[in-house]
Amino acid sequence: MIHKTMNMQNTIQEKVKKQLDEIKKRKDLNIFLHLNESALEDAKRIDEKIRMKKAGRLAGMTFAIKANINVKGLPISCASKTLEKYHGTYDADCIKMVKEEDCIILGIANCDEFACGASGETSAFGPTKNPAAPDRIPGGSSSGSAAAVAAGLVDAALGSDTGGSIRNPASHCGVVGIKPSYGRVSRFGLIDLAMSLDQVGPLAQDAKTAALVLEVISGKSRNDCATTDNPVEKYSHSTLPKKLKIGMCREFADLCTDKRILELVLANAHVFAKATGSSIVEFHAPHLKLGVQTYYPLVYVEFFSGTRKFDGRRYGKKIEESCGEEVLRRILGGREISRAEFGGRYYRKALAVKEIVAKEFQKTFKSVDIIISPVTPRLPHRFGEKLSPLDMYAYDAFTIPANLAGICAGVVPTGKIDGIPVGIQVMAPAFKEKLLCDVMAGLEK
Ligand code: GLN
Repeated sequence: MIHKTMNMQNTIQEKVKKQLDEIKKRKDLNIFLHLNESALEDAKRIDEKIRMKKAGRLAGMTFAIKANINVKGLPISCASKTLEKYHGTYDADCIKMVKEEDCIILGIANCDEFACGASGETSAFGPTKNPAAPDRIPGGSSSGSAAAVAAGLVDAALGSDTGGSIRNPASHCGVVGIKPSYGRVSRFGLIDLAMSLDQVGPLAQDAKTAALVLEVISGKSRNDCATTDNPVEKYSHSTLPKKLKIGMCREFADLCTDKRILELVLANAHVFAKATGSSIVEFHAPHLKLGVQTYYPLVYVEFFSGTRKFDGRRYGKKIEESCGEEVLRRILGGREISRAEFGGRYYRKALAVKEIVAKEFQKTFKSVDIIISPVTPRLPHRFGEKLSPLDMYAYDAFTIPANLAGICAGVVPTGKIDGIPVGIQVMAPAFKEKLLCDVMAGLEK
């Protein structure tokens, strides 16, 4: 009996110790850039809170945090030499919120440098391995966050998604990931890739856990004027939604290079439709095809502007002198597009198409409740395979449109092809996260 009580008391500490040991054993995966040395102490404090019945909603849940989200006192390098020595001087809003609910941060996760990438390979500290398919990329840019969950090293992770960076690695690693509606989660403390598109979101083993984390980090913040008053619904008691109209975009079929992915997604969408008495409706949205072409001019310009603060005086090194090839490409490209003689021509054009994409979604959501699609047009490539920037950018053809429109979207695993995990994407109207999470939970079954 005494033993049992002791065990109960030690639960979270034991778990954290075990997971930290496991993280050390799995160093080969290159998931963590830094471990939180106070994790065990935090666990002790939370065990005490649990004993006193005063613990929060995430009590004892362990987290990995993407290296572009500020956590006070921990190195937040954005996986770049530029910020190699930078330590978070404050907690990002989302970090404050998860800490208040008693989660334990185990460490800072690897990612593509400054979140620029779709494979995890642009990290200045080496790529993360995919625990579910060891010779393949884990996807990116939130590579470490997805891999940490997939390897069972943490219960959940936070990532950022500007054009697919939560959903793409979630799909390749076989975990769940959610990109919330623009304005649902405060970006305060996130080191931006493109301010008009970035969102912080959760990754977890299942939709229920991801939904709970999303619920915790959602809401209006004084620190981020894009956040809204939209009420934060409880997702944790999800019920299977019935009689939905499920939209499938015709144009997406052309973009899917590996048809096996499309077939798998379609087959599972049909199973879900049958189980819920829903119908599948095909729709045309010709501009959704232009996602990639529209996204990059916006990202290049906003990233160029955002990186002007990394001039080597206040934070770390001068970015142009210390960054990798992809980051430099975006800075130089962004500088070129923003040159005075162009008078904002390209940026404005991209903004106009962004508006059209948003309208296409609004129109579509008048006749369908949700949209289902593949997550990426192809399986993750093997390490060592050299992709052109355009091929790399094409990974996000299905995920970018949701960012352009500001709607919410999530990914759950839907099977395997050649032994490699494949996800299915659900998109829902802005601020309909409850519907999104319910459908994700339903698809999981
Ligand atoms: N792969 C896209 C890019 O490189 C998306 C990145 C992201 O969502 N952070 O910009």
